[in-house]
Amino acid sequence: MARIVMKFGGTSVADLDRIKNVARHVKREVDAGHEVAVVVSAMSGKTNELVGWVQNMPKVAGADHSIYDAREYDAIVASGEQVTSGLLAIALQAMGINARSWQGWQIPIRTDNAHGAARILEIEGTEIIRRMGEGQVAVVAGFQGLGPDNRLSTLGRGGSDTSAVAIAAAVKADRCDIYTDVDGVYTTDPRIEPKARRLKKIAFEEMLEMASLGAKVLQVRSVELAMVFKVRTFVRSSFEDPDAPGMGDLLNPPGTLICDEEEIVEQEVVTGIAYAKDEAQISLRRLADRPGVSAAIFGPLAESHINVDMIVQNISEDGSKTDMTFTVPSGDVEKALRVLGDNKDKIGYDVVQNESGLVKVSVIGIGMRSHAGVAATAFQALAEKGINIKAITTSEIKISILIDGPYAELAVRTLHSCYGLDKS
Ligand code: ASP
Ligand code: MG
Repeated sequence: MARIVMKFGGTSVADLDRIKNVARHVKREVDAGHEVAVVVSAMSGKTNELVGWVQNMPKVAGADHSIYDAREYDAIVASGEQVTSGLLAIALQAMGINARSWQGWQIPIRTDNAHGAARILEIEGTEIIRRMGEGQVAVVAGFQGLGPDNRLSTLGRGGSDTSAVAIAAAVKADRCDIYTDVDGVYTTDPRIEPKARRLKKIAFEEMLEMASLGAKVLQVRSVELAMVFKVRTFVRSSFEDPDAPGMGDLLNPPGTLICDEEEIVEQEVVTGIAYAKDEAQISLRRLADRPGVSAAIFGPLAESHINVDMIVQNISEDGSKTDMTFTVPSGDVEKALRVLGDNKDKIGYDVVQNESGLVKVSVIGIGMRSHAGVAATAFQALAEKGINIKAITTSEIKISILIDGPYAELAVRTLHSCYGLDKS
């Protein structure tokens, strides 16, 4: 017997038939004798619709940055998950399973006060654990919690992944199964490289990089949480026949396990290739090479909520002037240039240059820590294809390379094959 949290995303509960199909997945685990809690998203498209409704309401006259009251936004957008949790509980009951829906406030899932993008602070797991022990399935509405002001809060888009991992941590589940419309985590995007392979296992840190760098399987925060609480998280498809052979296999079901690196015996040097499109590069030329210059650049950008990514500063040739290059999402270029312009005197640069439509491709793998030459292999492979590298940043487990947009797919495929990821 195991304790399992099963999470179903929007496409998995998109309509009543799919909800009934989800109920079959749950029944399979219940019949196997496991203790089960379920977390659901809203029906796909529902949250977008709700957000759209909020955005189309009249705004308070004179309100500056906030276009609407975030508490009311939460009251509205949290409703999608309320509906699916009730519907799934009914579908389960109809199959003879003892099931009960739970809203965030009923558990409660306590969050901070950042309405619209709240963080989970604490989950009271005792009642759910007690009921699971009695054979009842808790169907929890994802994405929502209870703020310190006693009002509904939501966890930011994609937040029901985070709800699921947090609940799994709170009830000390053996595994958190994330059912989605893909059947696992791949070595790269299969739409770009058909030879991409599904990974059996990936380490938390690698998954964190993959998620932050553009693989959209899981909300980044859910991976952070899984890493901190060591929640073994399993990505799998809800579209496979719930009763197909192996689906209920406790040790080796079809999908990708995100786990501690200790659990990964055959560690490859490189695990995956991620990419992020629509990057822009901004370069400040001939800055003074003295303390405080970086702070003068990146402080105001941060205050304007511009998400700066790669930062490359060159070592000055003469100790007086240097260059600084960084990337931002293409959509933020105008704003970033304005902020830099406003702060020109404080920063003290000569000219700003910028270029949009770039792509960042990243090579990820914890095996890099103990292997030399991983970066050189990438550079050589890209050179052979005539792909020019604009900037490079590295961490212990990642090499990120900035290139021209049109080369994105070629670069992804080239890197994928130069590390042998296309061969099983
Ligand atoms: N329904 C929410 C969203 O679309 C939360 C989730 O599905 O994870 O963002
Ligand atoms: Mg999602």
